[in-house]
Amino acid sequence: MAENVVIIGSGPAGLTAAIYAARANLSPLLITGQEIGGQIALTNEVENYPGFPEGITGPELVDLMQKQAMKFGARIEIDFVSEVNLKTHPFQLKTQNGLEYEAKTLIAATGASPRRLNVPGEKELMGRGVSYCATCDGFFFRGKEIAVVGGGDSALQEGLFLTRFAAKVHVIHRRDQFRAQPILQDRARENQKMNFVWNSVIKEIKGNGAVQSLALENTRTGDVTQFPAQGVFVYIGHTPNTELFKGQLDMDEEGYLNVDERLHTNIPGIFAAGETHDRVFRQAVVSAGYGCMAQMEAEKFLADMEHRGYPGK
Ligand code: NAP
Repeated sequence: MAENVVIIGSGPAGLTAAIYAARANLSPLLITGQEIGGQIALTNEVENYPGFPEGITGPELVDLMQKQAMKFGARIEIDFVSEVNLKTHPFQLKTQNGLEYEAKTLIAATGASPRRLNVPGEKELMGRGVSYCATCDGFFFRGKEIAVVGGGDSALQEGLFLTRFAAKVHVIHRRDQFRAQPILQDRARENQKMNFVWNSVIKEIKGNGAVQSLALENTRTGDVTQFPAQGVFVYIGHTPNTELFKGQLDMDEEGYLNVDERLHTNIPGIFAAGETHDRVFRQAVVSAGYGCMAQMEAEKFLADMEHRGYPGK
């Protein structure tokens, strides 16, 4: 039998949709994806999610959301949706664990993944000094000199976290100004372990089995210098995880799903929530809000469908 609501993705958007759908008695099915909890689960300290004045870790926040969804009857499957057929209704889904589902409505909450530098050495040295997750890997860099790439909130927040372990954290930024929030910039400037390398981009990551140095190009002079570093943490933004929907859901050239103001995609009964469509705000609390909105629309859609059938059929 077709599921009422299938939610793909387990970040704040997906879990919020699950909480709302479960409380609406729709017995939603949430399929987590490979990165359970999404990006927030990789964040060490969350200080701006309302309701936690002392802050909370990302994994704790995700855990609480999961418990809340399950308490009301959401089913959470640890699996990865590998294929969808959205040209038929109910929609058809296949997972990596070999399961197949049918869904009357679908919420695409697959989030976004860290953008890669795409320079020589990055792929080869991934997990050997190249990382996208300070919370996961920071511990391995005790007493070492490391680089953090980027000038946004993630680069400074995670760079500050890395000062707990590293001897020195060099923030490599392509301009001479950060875009990060002023509070993070102040903290970074005050931290003796932080150093800023302005107007610089990495051309190559070098090392034999482990990161040893970086070839840095000065964006103003074009000069290339060798910069010693034993680790590189990359925080240069994200790309939406919408590959699964390519050719079926409308998206822009960067892969963000096209939605209307009520989060409807081009296919009736399919809604997007969070960083699959939001290229502007990208905050956990905003994604949670989108999860709520998408679910409310899915609920309304199901009610309409009961009376009138699936549109277009
Ligand atoms: P972001 O704001 O998009 O910043 C990406 C940074 O990487 C920018 O400084 C950008 O430089 C740089 N960059 C992009 N492509 C690059 C390349 N190819 N080579 C070198 N540098 C490159 O990404 P983010 O920091 O991950 O933040 C994403 C969103 O999450 C934001 O909305 C942010 O506010 C939010 N966030 C919030 C918090 C918090 O509230 N505490 C924490 C983390 C993230 P330019 O500046 O020159 O463009």
